[in-house]
Formats: sequence, structure tokens, C-alpha cells
Amino acid sequence: MIGTAAPPATLAALGDGHGRRIDYARLSVTDRCNFRCTYCMAPEMRFLPRNELLTLEELAQLGRHLVRRGVRRIRLTGGEPLVRRGIGELAQELGALRSEGLAELTMTTNGSALPRHARQLAAAGIERINVSLDSLDPARFAAITRGGDLAQVLAGIDAAQDAGLAVKVNMVALRGTNDGEFAAMLAWCGARGCDLTLIETMPLGAVEGRRADAYLALSAARASLEECFTLIPSTHRTGGPARYCEVVETGTRVGFITPLSANFCSSCNRIRVTATGTVYACLGHDRREELRDPMRGGAHGAVDAALDRLLAAKPARHDFDIARAEPALARHMSVTGG
Ligand code: SAM
Ligand code: SF4
Repeated sequence: MIGTAAPPATLAALGDGHGRRIDYARLSVTDRCNFRCTYCMAPEMRFLPRNELLTLEELAQLGRHLVRRGVRRIRLTGGEPLVRRGIGELAQELGALRSEGLAELTMTTNGSALPRHARQLAAAGIERINVSLDSLDPARFAAITRGGDLAQVLAGIDAAQDAGLAVKVNMVALRGTNDGEFAAMLAWCGARGCDLTLIETMPLGAVEGRRADAYLALSAARASLEECFTLIPSTHRTGGPARYCEVVETGTRVGFITPLSANFCSSCNRIRVTATGTVYACLGHDRREELRDPMRGGAHGAVDAALDRLLAAKPARHDFDIARAEPALARHMSVTGG
């Protein structure tokens, strides 16, 4: 495992071959999920055998190592991170990395298990979380998530806010499904003091139906919001790819993540590590390195060499094309996490 041998005296900060500093890691803790969102998964998904996953100790070790390589933000994701047993303890371990330079620990969750976990996450030092909420209509929510219970997620958001966690809502814009709900969602978020981020659907992994049919460029969503709200472009950033506007009527923000209609790769600052320790430098490319075996071999050098090799070849940008019949990559978003 990394850390068993003496570390080198100084470790270079992670950076890529295009001069981009890499200080943000998304750590997936599982590829499993209790939902099957239509745009994320196929109805019948095969999940990884549990014995292939990094252990909680290994995830914590890797987090520490990444912080020593200059990572300042870690986001726990999945699959659904709250279905991984021991997630609270892992959050605690990673939260303690603040004393070693970590500036922010966050999580993306579907919210359904927050009633059980919110307090522990807040105690671990997580200050804000992203909760996916694609509809406020119970039947539509159940259809999008293939069986999810909206009331449970809303109770999760209540629990998170009661525990003192700032909640940002993520909503994937889906043509013909939730495209009549943007203004209602923004009003709902505003009333609760939550920022809202709208996301364009990306062609990752095979799903039922044609992705192009569900794709909606966010310029259309923004236009429909501007019929009801005054949006003022903001310089606010959270370290991720969203571009924000202040919403005058609610005093909250709305963010737009536009991987297809307005590429933002030039400012990319992140890597993604799967639950088995595979690291990707770009969501839209398949080039990867395996960290699990070098970690288990106890070799700092091999882990660092793999990270540096990957980043030296980090692509300048993805080339998603929603019109192609085939997904850009066979890998689903639930493998690398959002
Ligand atoms: N299960 C958690 C959740 O749903 O928030 C975390 C993992 S999920 C893969 C992370 C984010 O990715 C969610 O906001 C989800 O809506 C988004 N997502 C999943 N598949 C996507 C796709 N194909 N295109 C765009 N966003 C996607
Ligand atoms: Fe699960 Fe999140 Fe994917 Fe929905 S988007 S199926 S909640 S991993």
C-alpha cells in the first residue's frame, strides 16, 4: 500500500501536458446504485464484484497521496456513494486531510440515504453536497430513476440541511421528460436556499433509447428560465465546470454544465478514480492507468509514475457527439462518477 515505504522528500504537484494544474479528484467508492436513472444506466446493469474494489483503507490512502500531490478538492461519488458500507468512516478519514492541505471534501449523491447519513457526513467535515433531483413530480421522478421514491429524496435534502450541509441540486435536462420543469425546480430550490445546476446529458455507456432524443442544449433551458427569472452572469466558481448566474428573484444561483453545447475543457483541473483504482484523466476518453496493484505493491514510485504518465497524455478536450448512434464510450457515468 502507498505509505508503507518512506515517501520521497518532496512530491511534485500534478499537472498535465497542456499546462493545466490538476488539483481536483473525483473518487468513486462504488459503481452500484439503488436507482437506475434512464440517462445513466441500462435497466439491467452488471456491477463489479465487491472483492475488486479498493478497500476503505486504500481509498483513504489514495486520497492522502493525492493531497500530497497537490489535490485540494476531493468529491466522493459513484454509483451511489451512500450505498458503500463504511462511507461515513471514509469521509471522516478524508476530512482529516484538511490538516495536510485538502481545502474541500464534497459528495454527489442521489439523496435517498441522506436521512441516515447526513449528520455523520457533516461531522466528517463535508460542508456541501450535490443532490441529483431531476423532477419534483413523484411519477416522473420514479420513471426517470426507474423506481426511486421522491419523498425519500426530499426527506434526504431536509436531513442534509438540518445537519448544516449546504445542498446544491443537480438536474439533468431531458428533452420530452423534465423540460417543462426548469422554472418550477429553480423556484423550489430558491425557496430552500439551494443553488441549482442544470446538466446536459453525455453519451457515456449504452442506455435504453437514443440519447439524441433526450438531449437538450442548455441554451433552451436558460431561455425558459429567463421567462420567469432575471439571471445575471456571475463569476462564482466551485472548482467544477459549471458557469453560474445569480437569480435576482431568489437570491440563489443557477449553474449550467454544457459539455456538448459549450465545451469547457480548457479549464479542466481534474482526474477521476474508479472504485477499483483505475484513474482516468478525461471523462470523454478511455486512456487510463491502474493504481490498485502498484498501491498494493507498496511502491510510491509506481503510483506516481502511473499518474504522471496519464497526465502527460491528458487529452486537450473530449469530443462528445450526441448525434452518433453509438455512445462515445462503453463506460457508464456510474463507473467514473459525476
Ligand atoms: N448517484 C449519485 C447521483 O446521482 O448524484 C452520484 C453519481 S452520478 C453518476 C453523478 C452525476 O452524474 C449525477 O448528477 C447524474 O445526474 C449525472 N449523470 C449520470 N449520467 C449522466 C450522463 N450520461 N450525462 C450527464 N450526467 C449524467
Ligand atoms: Fe444512480 Fe446516480 Fe446513476 Fe442515477 S445518476 S443511476 S442515482 S449513479
